[in-house]
Amino acid sequence: MDAQARILVVDDEKGIREGCKRILAGEGYAVDVAENGNTGLELVKTNPYDLLIIDLMMPGMGGIEMMSRVRDIDPEVIMIVITGFATIETAVDAMKHGAYDYIPKPFTPESLVAVVNRGLETRRLRLQTKRLMEERDQKLLELASEKSKMHAIINSMADGVLVVNRENQLVLWNPALIKMLNINGHIESGKNIEDIITHEGLLNVIKRAYAPDSSHYTSITEEIELPLPEAKTIMVSVSVIRDDESNQELGLVATLRDITRLKELDKLKSQFVAMVTHELRAPVSAIEGYLTAFLTGAFGSDPKMYRQMMERARQRARSLLDLINDLLEYSKLEAKCSIRQKELLDISDIIINTVELLKGQGGSKDLTFIVDVPRPLPLIEADRREMEQLFTNLISNAIKYNVKNGKVIVSARPNKHFLNIAVTDTGIGIDSEHLPHIFDEFYRVSCPETRYTTGTGLGLSIVKKIVESHFGRIDVESAPQKGTTFTVKLPIKQKNKD
Ligand code: ADP
Repeated sequence: MDAQARILVVDDEKGIREGCKRILAGEGYAVDVAENGNTGLELVKTNPYDLLIIDLMMPGMGGIEMMSRVRDIDPEVIMIVITGFATIETAVDAMKHGAYDYIPKPFTPESLVAVVNRGLETRRLRLQTKRLMEERDQKLLELASEKSKMHAIINSMADGVLVVNRENQLVLWNPALIKMLNINGHIESGKNIEDIITHEGLLNVIKRAYAPDSSHYTSITEEIELPLPEAKTIMVSVSVIRDDESNQELGLVATLRDITRLKELDKLKSQFVAMVTHELRAPVSAIEGYLTAFLTGAFGSDPKMYRQMMERARQRARSLLDLINDLLEYSKLEAKCSIRQKELLDISDIIINTVELLKGQGGSKDLTFIVDVPRPLPLIEADRREMEQLFTNLISNAIKYNVKNGKVIVSARPNKHFLNIAVTDTGIGIDSEHLPHIFDEFYRVSCPETRYTTGTGLGLSIVKKIVESHFGRIDVESAPQKGTTFTVKLPIKQKNKD
């Protein structure tokens, strides 16, 4: 033991007590003495002893009783009994009660030192064993918790993970991988991956990661297409696992990420850019045509013709500006970066004012406007500017696509959870084949009635985006030559007080 061993001698015979103390102190041990069991126990409670020498026959508390009480206080301490009548029975009894050894009286200093040294050596070994076991338990615990932590992380990853060894046997995988590759049945580690994975492309990437010329790669990343019914695009990254010391290839780890949605978005973005450039080109080339005709004097000397041309160029410039404004509005909504300032709103004023503001656009059509909006309306949580934009687009369409002496009716009706606002017109209507597309970007119905109506085809897409960002929905009903009704449903946030 590194520190000085501490010994307590409990004996009612002073000569033995002091004799033991002298002999053991001479050996370099720290020795305390007690003349009876009670004093001895008190000392045990307050001092960490390595070894106790206890007289078996003491008045009051005997050695056996003391030993069992010491065990309750300190189960590790070594106890040696001194016995005046060493019989096999007393020795066995003492051992049963936890004695490590016994010394029959009378004893020589050498035999005392020998028994004590043996006892202390045993204690040293026991303590060491205990410490090693605790360390091992702790290590096992840490290892187990590391392992379960790693499992928990890998199992909850959204990306598929696959680890295979050099023999192409499955070592580790996670539920995302099973789901992504639609693997059915039971998988066991040790199985060859070719028995589990049927996708040629994926197996190919894995094989190539091992190819000799791939040694300089840290990883290979490739997109693969999973066939129907999944029809997914997966980004696979495969890296070779190398042993830190020998640099030998141990196996490889593949991560699989489902990028189907990203791919779709990318495609939509390209389509959108193509559509925008197409839509922008038409008015710009028209304006260029008018300007070229003007500059080259293509219409001779008639100033009326030139004026007409300039007027048309201005109209096209105007529609180009409308398109750019709509595009800006649309892309702001699309990017969700427009700072929406939602507040509790009674939108009756917005509806009534928008109708008033737009009435003039009817021009020579002599339209009748009917506004059937009760006041106050239940409050909705909305962005005021976006609500103005929403009703401007719907009401201006109801005017634009109306016929002479037609009607525009705007009504609002609250029900239990929603505020329903209907914008009805008695105009040209929309053929059922076009209805599913009118909310698409740049979609315009081309028919004789709309030939001279200008527009960007973005108005209704903007309307739809606004409605959805307010957790509402929009429906349309239409009959050609009869008219159209757009119904916007917005969730009520606060009802009117009765
Ligand atoms: P635009 O700028 O062309 O009006 P919108 O996105 O607002 O674009 O509308 C898309 C198409 O839906 C219009 O071109 C038109 O053909 C049709 N449309 C929209 N509202 C009405 C309506 N009230 N009556 C008839 N057709 C409509």
